[in-house]
Amino acid sequence: MNRRRMDQRTFHLEELADGVFAAIGRRGTTSHSNAGIIDLGDRSLVIDTFSTPEPATALDAACEERTGRPASFVVITHGHSDHWGGNQAFPNATVIASTLMRAHMMDMVAWVRELQVDPDPLRKEIATSQETLAHTPDMAERTRLEEVIAHYLALLRELPTLKYRLPEVTFDASLTLHGSRRTVELHTVAGHTRSDVFVVLPADGIVFCGDLGFFETQPFMRDCDPARWIAWLEEMEETTYTAFVPGHGPVGTKKDLTREREYLEALVAHVRQVAARGESVESALALRLPPPFAAWQAAESGRFEANVRALYERLAVQKQ
Ligand SMILES: [Zn+2]
Repeated sequence: MNRRRMDQRTFHLEELADGVFAAIGRRGTTSHSNAGIIDLGDRSLVIDTFSTPEPATALDAACEERTGRPASFVVITHGHSDHWGGNQAFPNATVIASTLMRAHMMDMVAWVRELQVDPDPLRKEIATSQETLAHTPDMAERTRLEEVIAHYLALLRELPTLKYRLPEVTFDASLTLHGSRRTVELHTVAGHTRSDVFVVLPADGIVFCGDLGFFETQPFMRDCDPARWIAWLEEMEETTYTAFVPGHGPVGTKKDLTREREYLEALVAHVRQVAARGESVESALALRLPPPFAAWQAAESGRFEANVRALYERLAVQKQ
């Protein structure tokens, strides 16, 4: 599919339909996650706001440029701060999230306030990563570390001016926004986190998945409910929607949802087998995933380890 691409400094826009844009982030920045811009006709909607105000300000400017007005609504897809840290950059908008998600976001605010009082843990994290980088020959791992360092440095730079803004409107199951040009449905589900929101544009066949979607990269599973996440992916695979915007990675199709589901299923099955044999988490970590997941694992071994540990712990808790 050939889509019009518009480059910004740390993200680029892809026009998925007239007035519907995916904002695809760039790794190693505080806009390493994806966002979206939707022209509702009489108002404009932004989905997610990156990690910090700087790229979020550029996102609102892009919204104004592409739709003729700044965002009236900002919808947040889940509580991880790389998707809503830029909320303060939307002065004209009402921020909408799920009720449960808002509670999760309050924990994040506490974490950032601590960092604002004492940024040393972040500085130490940067120093440790730089130290590791100096002794890492592997190119993929070097790239990953460089991205981590660049991201933390950008966060450190914006930390003093960060004012985490919580949502003003929350909902529990679904909410519909009726614009003069298009209708947008917001639905809640547990999957990537305890409360995710995905955004459906029924007439356009487009879904903004938030982090329920990770394409061409390993999904982040620390806070997930794997069974419900897999069920959601299956549900989407059954729909007639054609374009899916993930929280991380390029815009995809149902094929990408299937691949993501296969990764989740493979990892859950593997960790379950290891746990059932009474073996330790270390033996689960010895797994080498088959293609196409081998490349994902090689690119981000830390993500793989975090996922395996989270699943192992989860299964151990379930057994008790
Ligand atoms: Zn996330």
